[in-house]
Amino acid sequence: MKNHGPATQVRAGANFNPKRYDTSPENSVRGHSAPKVTVMDKVLFVQLPPPRFSFSEAPSNIPLAAGFLSIALHAVIDDTLSGEILEPAIVDVFADQGIVLEIVKRQPVIVAMTLYVWNVERSLFLASNIKKLAPDTKILVGGPEVTPDNNWVITHPAVDAGVFGEGESRIRPLVTFLLGRREEAGTAGFFIKVPAGIHMDTRPHPQWDLSLSPYPYLDKTIAPSRDGTLFLETIRGCPFRCKYCYYHKAFNNIRTHPPGSIEKVLDLAYSKDSGVNEIYLMDPTFNVGQGFRGLVRSMTIRRNARDVALHTELRADLLSREDVILLKDAGLRSAEVGLQTVNPLALKHAGRTGDPEHVARGVEWLKDAGIEVTTGIILGLPNDTPGGFTRTLEWLRQAGAYSVVHPFVLSILPGTDFRTEAEELGIRFHSRPPYYVRSTRTFAEEDFQPALLECENVFDMELDYIPPPSLVDRGPSVVTELDMAAYLSKWIVNLDSSSWLRSLPEVIRKASDPFTIWFRGTMNERMMVDLLHEFAQANPHTCLHVVLELADLPGLQFFDKALYAAAHPDHYLNRAYRPVYGEGAIISINFWITWPDPGNAELRGRVSAAYDSVAGFVWETSRIDEESLSRSSTPLLFSGSITDSGSDYRKLFEILHEIHAGRPEEVLFRDALLQEKWNASFGKASPESSLAETILVT
Ligand code: SF4
Repeated sequence: MKNHGPATQVRAGANFNPKRYDTSPENSVRGHSAPKVTVMDKVLFVQLPPPRFSFSEAPSNIPLAAGFLSIALHAVIDDTLSGEILEPAIVDVFADQGIVLEIVKRQPVIVAMTLYVWNVERSLFLASNIKKLAPDTKILVGGPEVTPDNNWVITHPAVDAGVFGEGESRIRPLVTFLLGRREEAGTAGFFIKVPAGIHMDTRPHPQWDLSLSPYPYLDKTIAPSRDGTLFLETIRGCPFRCKYCYYHKAFNNIRTHPPGSIEKVLDLAYSKDSGVNEIYLMDPTFNVGQGFRGLVRSMTIRRNARDVALHTELRADLLSREDVILLKDAGLRSAEVGLQTVNPLALKHAGRTGDPEHVARGVEWLKDAGIEVTTGIILGLPNDTPGGFTRTLEWLRQAGAYSVVHPFVLSILPGTDFRTEAEELGIRFHSRPPYYVRSTRTFAEEDFQPALLECENVFDMELDYIPPPSLVDRGPSVVTELDMAAYLSKWIVNLDSSSWLRSLPEVIRKASDPFTIWFRGTMNERMMVDLLHEFAQANPHTCLHVVLELADLPGLQFFDKALYAAAHPDHYLNRAYRPVYGEGAIISINFWITWPDPGNAELRGRVSAAYDSVAGFVWETSRIDEESLSRSSTPLLFSGSITDSGSDYRKLFEILHEIHAGRPEEVLFRDALLQEKWNASFGKASPESSLAETILVT
């Protein structure tokens, strides 16, 4: 049992009764202030998406866990309690303030948040803001970030209670306890705030009987994502015990969802009008599950009627040739496999079994079958060294055991064995997400960045790539009145007009995440810095693109002032990119300068040289003749419209594809229709699966 500090009361054992901890005479009968019980109290489930750079690319943020929880909450007929999931049209679209306002508007008595490493800080920021506007709202947290050793989450002032491990078995007793409708929690594996501190019950929690949970897609509690992905968990649990992983601890044995339930989900996914084009099988090691071959055959049969792509994680070392054929026939397009390292000592100390040669054999079979394989390797494992990492890179390159390589810096996640043993193993790590290792006894802090650069060189990849934002400023998505927009993805601010000032409060409320602020006209440094400051104060966890389309190039001091005023170093993206960019670098705000293309590499280099470290240049042209386009460079902004290019836009695309084949996403158009057609020409998400832009021009 952990000691969580002087303000914390920790007790494991019998059912908890908050009265025992109630030391203040003015406190109510129950230890925590219970909100007034109303008819149909609402529990609102909220799962924020991973941060992203491009607004239109809708995230696959399917609240599967919240779906199961909502069903478990409703498992007992009770007309005083209802569960609702905050839908993707809100959580995947709005910036911080927009989500807060929507939550408060729905008047939940409890907001139940699913906390992952990528959304925990933003979720807790939102929770604090919800409390400011609706102080009686209780915040209940769950998910992989809620573990007895993750003290900063447990002690966060906005959090009222949390559940450790899978929540279905405890959601109902905890909700009713938190609402003051019962005297005892009557369950295990949770924490709750009481006047005397924090009551924490770390006893093993009861497991939920999966046969009690119909799949939440079936009654439309949740839906596949906008891009046509359906998340499917067929088993819960993992037979392996990797020391950097919490999953096997949260689910410490293997349970299977009832086959009948899975079959019904597959019927739905493969039906003609389901809109599902990919099933993401979430089982952590899909080919290890006992029933996996039967399930794969069942999908193969369904595929005769309709093709649906499959994606999953595999233990490549445990694959047979026959398995690969089965997977191929069922429609497997891509798979992730974990090599981690070829250093046997590091593998052993990470609790990782499997022979790298067998991994290579499995990957070869998968690739031969035309299945794309992303091979994961981990940087900074205890007992690995910079030299050992180099050997892993070399081995992987020579073995060719990848289609794509994904290097991860080791995270010392809450609840994992590595977290418990960190001191003993000499591991230093960051205390906040993503909890990257700083150093180990065999890997110094200064060795991480060169190792990542080496990985980039060996596999010819770019780990720090940030795509430019959409620069569409014409077309049906442009509005000039705020009332016309439910949300805003871009704000074009004419610096020479003054109407931007009165728009700012409403823009803050309607802004999306990510969001683009596009300054146009005559530089007004003070005003621009103030605007960025106000926006970022209200929406600190929003990823921001700042476009500068100015009469003159801005002075370099502007960028320093703007970052000082608007950057939030604790934004997840800044922390996540730290090993690549270094300490203190800001990735969550990106500056882009649009500038007429001089049509010559040397001149471009001269213009942009001074801005290399602060802003990217987007070279603008309206010329569509082959000769000038052949001299163009990306990011490229084409300012003509579809009427200017007439039916010749196909010819224009042909030339652009030839010249900029490697970076089609860096060819940008002001004209919405041209941009849409260009996106379609290289297979980027269709308008139906993308989020539509709404652009305010003031
Ligand atoms: S990392 Fe994957 S294989 Fe290892 S314990 Fe976790 S889920 Fe299982």
